[in-house]
Amino acid sequence: MVFLISFCLALPGASSGADSRERAEAYLLRVARIDWRIRRAALKDCPVSAMRPGFVLDARSAYGAGKEARLPDLPWVIGFTDMAAAGGALVPGDEIRAIERVPVSQLMQGADGQILPEHVLAHIDHMVPQASYRLEVQRAGHVRSVDVPARALCPGLTIVKQGRRGDAFSDLRNVAITTGLLDKLGSDDAVAFIIGHELAHTIFADSRKGPLSRRDKESRADLYGAHIAACAGFDPGKAIEALAVVRSMNIGGLSLTHRPYKVRQQAIAQYLSVRPDCQAAFTWGRGEE
Ligand SMILES: [Zn+2]
Repeated sequence: MVFLISFCLALPGASSGADSRERAEAYLLRVARIDWRIRRAALKDCPVSAMRPGFVLDARSAYGAGKEARLPDLPWVIGFTDMAAAGGALVPGDEIRAIERVPVSQLMQGADGQILPEHVLAHIDHMVPQASYRLEVQRAGHVRSVDVPARALCPGLTIVKQGRRGDAFSDLRNVAITTGLLDKLGSDDAVAFIIGHELAHTIFADSRKGPLSRRDKESRADLYGAHIAACAGFDPGKAIEALAVVRSMNIGGLSLTHRPYKVRQQAIAQYLSVRPDCQAAFTWGRGEE
């Protein structure tokens, strides 16, 4: 009987679950690290700021349907966006039970009633800002208290969505990007531009009605995306490449809301030649399109 069980665990079918968890975690870590740098750089442009610890949690949205079944009940640490911010207090695999004495069961609850680990960071963004947060974690069966340092950043999340479609979008709070688009965007620099573009929509509250047309909002988001990617230390020139990828995945789909790709690419190239430094406030005029 024992042999039979061991044999079953060694079957390729049984290990594919682990593979997909590794894949999901790789997407999550990549996006969280880029998002962290972009949100740190965007701090002065945000209407509000948050203090957040530099750990990354597993998130169900990164998994295909049914593939998340092996996730534990408690959110767990899969890595770090900022080793200094992690402070060595946590290790990957730590399961979080409470933050600042608030049980994690409350922190996983979203506004939509769904219980998900990805809601935890959104709750931290709304806590009283702290230089470090006290976490109750479970490690190898033992419960311990740890203090995890935090850094100031522009609040909100970039959510990884499982899906082949090449898509990135945002609402007033968060940004989302699909695994399909991440697969096609070769460099982190290109991903940084896409996240920066979507972050612009949240910072400028573009989904609300305002004086700008949709196309103007998109043009402003393009320039902000390139600008903030540069401020975060990425190569902003890769924005041109990123738009080429988006174009290849959305043929004709954006023509009503966005200017033609060539025009967008030229506008970004033009902007990068005169871009103000990162200390100056980001400004945008209709002439820059
Ligand atoms: Zn946009």
